[in-house]
Order: sequence, then structure tokens, then C-alpha cells
Amino acid sequence: MARLSDPITVLKGVGPAKAKQFAALNIVTLEDLICHFPRGYEDRNQFVTIDKLQPDVPACFKAMVMNTPRTAHIRKGLDITKVQVADHTGRLNLTFFNAKYSAEQLHYGEEYIFYGAVSGDFIGYNMTNPVFESPDAPAVSTRRILPIYPLTAGLTNSALWKTIRQALEICPMPQEIIPEEIRRKYDILPAEKAYFAIHEPQTMQQAQAAKKRLIFEEFFVFSAGLSLMRAARAEKSCEIYQNVDLSGFYGALPFQLTGAQTKVIGQILEDFRRGTPMNRLVQGDVGSGKTMVAAAAGYCAVKNGYQVGLMAPTEILAEQHFQSLDGLLTPLGIRVGLLTGSMTPKQKSGVRKQIEDGELDFIIGTHALVSDQTKFCKLGLVITDEQHRFGVGQRSALSAKGEAPHLLVMSATPIPRTLALLLYGDLDVSILDELPPGRQTVDSFLVGESYRPRINAFIRKQVAEGHQCYVVCPAVEQTDGMSLKAATQWAQTLQNTVFPDLKIALLHGQMKGAEKEQVMSAFARGEADVLVATTVIEVGVDVPNATLMVIEDADRFGLSQLHQLRGRVGRESAKSYCILTTHNRNEQTIARLKALCKTSDGFAIAQEDLKLRGPGDFFGSRQSGLPAFRVASLGTDLDTLSTAQQASKDWIETYGTSDCPEASALRQRIRALFERCMYTMN
Ligand code: ADP
Ligand code: MG
Repeated sequence: MARLSDPITVLKGVGPAKAKQFAALNIVTLEDLICHFPRGYEDRNQFVTIDKLQPDVPACFKAMVMNTPRTAHIRKGLDITKVQVADHTGRLNLTFFNAKYSAEQLHYGEEYIFYGAVSGDFIGYNMTNPVFESPDAPAVSTRRILPIYPLTAGLTNSALWKTIRQALEICPMPQEIIPEEIRRKYDILPAEKAYFAIHEPQTMQQAQAAKKRLIFEEFFVFSAGLSLMRAARAEKSCEIYQNVDLSGFYGALPFQLTGAQTKVIGQILEDFRRGTPMNRLVQGDVGSGKTMVAAAAGYCAVKNGYQVGLMAPTEILAEQHFQSLDGLLTPLGIRVGLLTGSMTPKQKSGVRKQIEDGELDFIIGTHALVSDQTKFCKLGLVITDEQHRFGVGQRSALSAKGEAPHLLVMSATPIPRTLALLLYGDLDVSILDELPPGRQTVDSFLVGESYRPRINAFIRKQVAEGHQCYVVCPAVEQTDGMSLKAATQWAQTLQNTVFPDLKIALLHGQMKGAEKEQVMSAFARGEADVLVATTVIEVGVDVPNATLMVIEDADRFGLSQLHQLRGRVGRESAKSYCILTTHNRNEQTIARLKALCKTSDGFAIAQEDLKLRGPGDFFGSRQSGLPAFRVASLGTDLDTLSTAQQASKDWIETYGTSDCPEASALRQRIRALFERCMYTMN
């Protein structure tokens, strides 16, 4: 018997060349192969008679060959083989293109099983390239349910299927991780049956049941993992904060906090007094003032003798948080530090030493904070900003650097409840449902290319009034045949031909960290009038003097992303604008973009986005902190998600500390999954 961890080359017919093709599908081991699930099925069990064949609906039928197949060589590369078949209800002409060899296997006077669809646009029946088998041959491509797999170049569905079938014969099924009692309660197939039936269902019901189990399993593993994380933290105790007097902090603020900010800070202080680590998500729309909530929490932690680590998803954002928090907190006696990946090794090790020696209190950084070399002296509070850009793994890795630190995660993406449960199922939620006073809605417009002169005039007008503008492009560099606006070339065009008298700056993700920082801070200081950028400025960037956001080829972005980008303007009382341009004429696309122009409600936009694009693309690829589910879809399987969550609660209660084989296997799966969730950041 082979093992699941064996490479697929142990299978017959899989040599190094084939293995390479499989690798393109992320299939390396037998387990990967068995976990390569069909994306659908063709039910080739349904038999009809020839008179019942429906145009374009493929079906099986049994028929006799009425003449000898004839092949006509039309031209180089085109052979057409014709043959007539019949049953007691009628006749049918079959046409095969470039299938001379196989079609000529049909023998006059013999019966075969065919599978195909008649085309509707001929007078009389005609069928092109049906598959067929002799009734005496094993059922391979007819008389069965045929799984349809995701494929890659060089691998056909039947080759893939045969390879999987071979694997199913020689190796054990993945181990059961759901205890029988839970399977029974939620009507879930055992692993062994499900993994087999997903590839070899006898009926469509079996296929459905297998799929249900596998979807359930994926959600179950993820939510059991989150529950374990939470349970582990709940068990821990930490010191109760004695000093929760924030009057010094409040006194230093240049503005009064909003009611929502005060309320959420109150919830955090309550958590600090509880004696168990806080696990709190602060969700608030763009511009709702999450940074100040983080600052208040951090102030309190430092005043109680702890260090604070604030992790931001981009260098620009980390730098900007450092600027504003350093300015606010240093006068209050708090030592603020910055640690990012683009600092020189010497700078980094200097800051790391200060962190380790307890010479810094409030450390802001990128994922450099999570790296092994970063050691805290007394980490008491972990904050992640724009949490949806991180994987759960990163969140827990930073927490692991403290004894039992409090955890505060912040997100601007107002995600629908079901999804929030999955992403943040282990967290308490606070909502900042109020914007600071004086904010106005950003007037938004959707325009076509004919508006270019007006857009340019408008940019000029904003600059003349002393304001600044962003221009966001979907690409960095122009490539051949690409019609999208690319930031690099567009910045040149604007500088050289449109606005030679203005200062145009360029910012994109391929620039070096230090360079990005320079450009960004120069723009923040007002040293450039127009910043042409990619979506690197999507999250968090705060330049209040900017009043115009132009988004080129806006149809290339998700709605939530556009909303985030738009949130870069309208940050002070000056009237602000957002202009979306597009060449796209697709009615749905236009409707989507127009909808965005009409509303400024981030939650409504997120719902719409989720509906339109599905959660895979919802946050942009790989940025959700969610694992890539293999079978489960967050768009359609939300019911299963809530049962799986319920089941994982049951599991924790009964098996949370059990050593039974299922429980150990589940823990192992959870570890593997969470490691996969440690995405690299952009
Ligand atoms: P976000 O929630 O998007 O992270 P920020 O924390 O960046 O929002 O805050 C947006 C802007 O609003 C910043 O310039 C910040 O200084 C300002 N701000 C935050 N709270 C208030 C307040 N209560 N009153 C006025 N301005 C505020
Ligand atoms: Mg922010």
C-alpha cells in the first residue's frame, strides 16, 4: 500500500514530464491528487431514445450503426467522418471532425452506447463528435457519472481521472477528523466514503453527499482552529491594568473624539480590567478614526508598563502611523519606534535591540515585527491595522511574542456578518459607526474618455486652490497590447505634456521601500501636486489636503477597493471629489460603478461586491486572511458554514483536549492550514 505522502510518480504512467504537468495544478503527492476535486459532474447515466434527444443537452443513447463510416479529407488538417446510426425511434447522422481513427472503429450493424448532444441548427438531427463505447466494454465515458476536473495544459480530463482512480486503489483515504457522533448529528458522510465518492459517485446524490461532507470538513477545520486559538487565549490570564486614566492622552489630542471612538475605547478599557487577554476587532469605515482608538489602547498599555506592537500591511502605512503617533505620544513620555523591512540591516538590528531591551514602548512596523529576530521585552498589546490584509497566522505569530498579550485588530472593510464570523469568529467586535464631524460625502462621478479635457481642467483647478490630487492606475508599466493606464507612463505624460508646470509624483509597489516612503512623505508635505499611483495607496494613507481622487480604468477594481481608494480624499472639511474613468461598456459594469458613485455606505458596497464577485475576489486575491478553500465557496455554502461552526463548538466541548485519533488528526490539519494562511504581504 502506498502512503498519502508519496509522490505521484509512484503511479504507473506518471514520469517526470507528467509530474510537471500535475505540479501546475499543485499536485505533488498522492494526497494532493486525491484532494483534487471535480468542479462538476456529467450525469451520463441518463438514457434516452433518439427521438427524445434535446438540442444542446448531452445524453446517452443506444443505437445501431447503419452504414460504414466514410472519411472525407477536406484539406490539410481537416478530415470529416460521417456515419448514420438508428434506434427504434429514429435515425441520426453523426459527424466526426479529425477523429478518423476512432470513428472508423464503429462497425456496420453493431450497437454502441453514445454520449453527445444534437445540434439544434440543422434540419433533421445531427450530432458532432459524440463519445461512444461498446455495451460490452467497461463503462468509462458513458453509463456513469463522469467527474469533470480543473485541468491544465497537457492533461485531459480522462487522463486525470484515470490517474486519480489508480491512486484511490493503491493508497488509504485521508484520515477521519470528524468524530462519529458529530458526523451523525450533522448528517455527514465518513471521510473514507466521501473521498471515494467525490471521484467515483454512483449517483448524483452520492456526489452531492460527498461534496457536502468535504465542504463541511473545510469549514470545520478552519473554525475549529479559530475556536482552539480562542480557547487557548481564554485560558490564559494576564495582569489587570490598574492605571486606566486616559486624561493625559485626551488632553493631547487636537480634536474631540467622536462618540463612537469614546465608546469603543471604553470597551477596550473594560477588556484591560478583566484579567484575561482581550480579543477585539474594531471595524469602522474608512476615515472613522481607528488610529486614535489604537493610540488610546496603546497609551493605556504603556502606562501599565507594557510594550505595544502595531502591525500595518504596507510600509507606507507603517511609516505614516509612525509619523502621527510619534508626534502625539512622544510628548506624553512614550518612546515610539519604527521597524520595517526596507530599513538597512544595521538600522533594523538597532531597533530590535531597543525593543528587546525595553527601550521602546510603542513599536510600529510591517511584517518585520513578526520575524524571528524581533523579540519583545514585555509585549502587552498587539494591534493589527487593516486586518483583512493579514492571514490569521500572522496575527497569532505576533501574539506569540508576548506572554498573553491583548489583541486588537482593526479593519476598514465592513464585511457581511457571515463572513465576519468566519474571519473573526474568535473575536469580540466593536463598531465605529460614526465619522468625525465635518466630513462630507465625496462627490463621485463616472465618466468616459471624452471627459479627459474636463478631468485635466478639474485637476488644475484643485491644484490652483491649493489642494492635491491622486491619480490611480491599474498597472505599473505599460506592456505591449495593453490598453490599461499604467502609472509610470501616465505620470510621464501628465508631467511632460499635460501639466508641465505642476509637480507630478509617482508611487507604485515595485519601488523600493525607502523610495516609496520618500515620495509619500513629500506628497504629505505638499511637495507634489499630483500623485500618480497604483493601489499601494489603497489602505490607510492620510493626506488631508488631497481633495481629488481620479481612478483610471475603474472597472478593473473591486467596489470595496474603489471605496477604500475614495476614502483617501474627503478627510477634511474641504469639498472633495472622486472621478472614475472607464472604457468598459458592459451594462453590468457601468451599473456597478454608478452604484458606487451614488452611495458612501461602505457596508452596502461590501454586500454588493460580495454578491457580484464572490468572496474569492472580495478583498483582492489572497488578501483575505482566509485559506483558499478547495471545495467550499463562501458565496454559496454559507449555510454549511454555520453548521460547521456549530459543530466545531460541539467538538471543542467534547474533544478539545482529547487524544483520540480523530482529534489528533484534526489538530494536525489545523496546524497545516494555519501555516498555509501565513501569506506574504505586498
Ligand atoms: P481610519 O479609520 O480610516 O483608519 P484614521 O484613523 O486614519 O481613519 O483617521 C482619519 C482622519 O481623521 C485622520 O486625519 C485623523 O487624524 C482624523 N480624526 C480621527 N478622529 C477624529 C476626530 N474625533 N475628530 C476629528 N478628526 C479625527
Ligand atoms: Mg486606518
